[in-house]
Amino acid sequence: MSKELIRTVDLKKYFKTGGGTLHAVDGVDLVIREGRTLGVVGESGCGKSTLGRTILQIHRPTSGQVFYEGKDITKIGRRELAGYRRKMQIIFQDPYSSLNPRMSVQELIAEPLIINKILPRQEIYAEVERLMDLTGLAKRLAGAYPHELDGGRRQRIGIARALSLNPKFIVCDEPVSALDVSIQAQILNLLMDLQQEMGLAYLFITHDLSVVKHISDEIVVMYLGMCIEQTSASELFREPLHPYTRALLDSIPLPDPAMRRKKIRAIKGEISNPIDPKPGCRFAPRCPMATERCFSRTPELREIREGHFVACHEV
Ligand code: ADP
Repeated sequence: MSKELIRTVDLKKYFKTGGGTLHAVDGVDLVIREGRTLGVVGESGCGKSTLGRTILQIHRPTSGQVFYEGKDITKIGRRELAGYRRKMQIIFQDPYSSLNPRMSVQELIAEPLIINKILPRQEIYAEVERLMDLTGLAKRLAGAYPHELDGGRRQRIGIARALSLNPKFIVCDEPVSALDVSIQAQILNLLMDLQQEMGLAYLFITHDLSVVKHISDEIVVMYLGMCIEQTSASELFREPLHPYTRALLDSIPLPDPAMRRKKIRAIKGEISNPIDPKPGCRFAPRCPMATERCFSRTPELREIREGHFVACHEV
C-alpha cells in the first residue's frame, strides 16, 4: 500500500448563519494515500466542497486536524502554510468563472509560475508549452481566450494551472459536472493518466456516483456533513450497505442483476440543512428503514466487514 499523504481527524467546519450554526463538515476522518484517489459523493449541499476546502486550509477548520505527511497543517502560520498550499491544488467545476477572461491560454498557465516565482522568466514559456502538451492543449491555442474554447479545453487550462506548481495532491471539485458526457470521459482519462505519470493523489468530489466509479480507489459517501459509508470503490458498487448509498446507486443504471435485487425505494423528500442538528441519524427523516432509535441516537461509523465502514443502526 502506498504512503499516507493526507489524514483528517474528527474534522469539523461550522458556519454561523442567521438561523444558527450550520454543521457543514461534522467530524470527518479519512486518509488519502500517495498516487491514489479518494472519491467523495453525496447530494449537493452535503459538505463535499467545504470538506475539500477545509483540507486545503482555504477554510480553517472549526476543530479537528489535517495532517500532510504527518504534519498538522491546521495550526501553522500563513508563511509555513504557503509552502504546503503549493503542494495541494484545486480544480473547480466551472473553470470559466475561475479564469480571467482577458488572459490568453498561455498567460493563464504562466500566471501561477510567475506569482510563485517558480522559474526564471526566460524559462516560463517553455514550461507553459510543456504543460499545454501534458494536458492535451494544442500549441495553436496558446493565444486563444477562454470564451473561444469549449468546456473541456477550459478544464484542461484549469488542470495545467494546478499542475504548474508540481503538487502531490489535488482536490478535484466536480471537475466534469459541467461538461458534456463525451468530454467528461476525456477529462477523467486525462486525470487518470496524469495520476499515473506524476503519482498524484486526488480527492475527487462529485454528486454523481457513476463518475467516481472508475477513477476512485476508495469512496466516502457523505450525508449532511457526515461520512456515512466508506470502503473501496469495487466493494461499494458490489455491496452498498447504507440505505442512502443504495438509494444513490438506484438512481444510476445497474448492469448487475444481484444488485438490482437489492434495490430499495428511491429516497423521497428534500435534503435539509444541518443547522444546530439534534442527535439521531441525519438521514432518518428520508430513510425507508428508519426505526425509533434512528431519531434519537447518532449512528457511529462502524467497520461492518474488513475495510467497509457504515454509520447505520439497521445494517
Ligand atoms: P456540496 O459541495 O456538497 O454541495 P457545500 O460544502 O458547498 O456542499 O455546502 C455544505 C453546506 O454548507 C451547505 O448547506 C452550504 O449552504 C453551507 N455553506 C458552504 N459554504 C458556506 C459559507 N461560506 N457560509 C455559510 N454556509 C456555507
